[in-house]
Amino acid sequence: MQANGQTPKVYDNILQCIGNTPLVKFNRIPDSYGLECDLYAKCEFLNPGGSLKDRIAHAMVNDATKTGRIQLGTRLVEPTSGNTGIGVSLTAAVSGIKCTIVTPDKNSDEKMSTMHLLGAEIVQTPAMAHIDDPDNFMNVTKKILEEDHKAISMNQYSNPMNPLTHYDYTAEEIIDALGTVDMLVMGAGTGGTVTGIGRKLKEKLPNCIIITVDPEGSIIYGEGEPKLYYVEGIGGDFIPEVLDKRTIDRCIKTNDKEAFNMAREIIKKEGLLCGGSSGSITYAAIKAAKEYKLGHGKKVVVILPDGIRNYMTKFVCDQWMEAHLFKEPPERDYPWWNRF
Ligand code: PMP
Repeated sequence: MQANGQTPKVYDNILQCIGNTPLVKFNRIPDSYGLECDLYAKCEFLNPGGSLKDRIAHAMVNDATKTGRIQLGTRLVEPTSGNTGIGVSLTAAVSGIKCTIVTPDKNSDEKMSTMHLLGAEIVQTPAMAHIDDPDNFMNVTKKILEEDHKAISMNQYSNPMNPLTHYDYTAEEIIDALGTVDMLVMGAGTGGTVTGIGRKLKEKLPNCIIITVDPEGSIIYGEGEPKLYYVEGIGGDFIPEVLDKRTIDRCIKTNDKEAFNMAREIIKKEGLLCGGSSGSITYAAIKAAKEYKLGHGKKVVVILPDGIRNYMTKFVCDQWMEAHLFKEPPERDYPWWNRF
């Protein structure tokens, strides 16, 4: 990752292109929702592997290499909703390290194909396997680690490098670009982003409001049994170790329909080719900016974690939206004999 400052003209490898993502102002969406404040997107989908998780994957593998945990023949085993898997597979491919990715089967085929081509072995687990079930992705990871003495896990859910990377880089990039920020809105899967960015913002800009978003069905903010939802990468069925809720001022719950329709609107109106959780986050940002009555001149930043590529056969596709009842089918043009 490059420190802030000069951008080199030539890079030694693709991993050096991670980070320093652009911050882009929304132009049409704020108006259409009656927002007075400015809304900015931190375009994490423009990282080389397509998500904000490239940052932490690279940092965790680097740290493990420096501390001697990665040696000749080491296999990396990572539990993930897919984007950390892509980041780890990318880093592993460039560095010549073997890796196995363990991921619940609700995550997109597009993510699986990307990891497969990057050389990772993929183990898919049932998405609804409870955290106590041996088939749950965290338990399957543990079992692989017990059975293969050359396997190690970066374990993004407990690795301090996860929030630290966002604290040291993502947050600094936002402050460097805007000077002040009044509200920052992020999702929480591992909680690394919101914890790292939240901590830095609370130190440097203590008045900045930190908002997170949690899907209906997740228990990160919520009670009862977890339920299936389709948005990927945020929420979950356990509270991750790296998530520090003290950095968060408010959580907004969103559902799949709101998330996917907003992601499609961002793509159509702003040309930002984002993924589904970006829709949840932006939906929550609009709601929160209104609730906190953020007026002219106030700055709201949303993190857009990943991009359209991961979801080409999912919310990007009209038929998928209709089949899942997230979108009304278009009015059918009935044949003439039905018109009478
Ligand atoms: N959105 C997407 C699409 C993701 O893959 C992730 C990572 N799980 C997040 C949001 C949330 O990031 P974090 O793990 O840092 O909470």
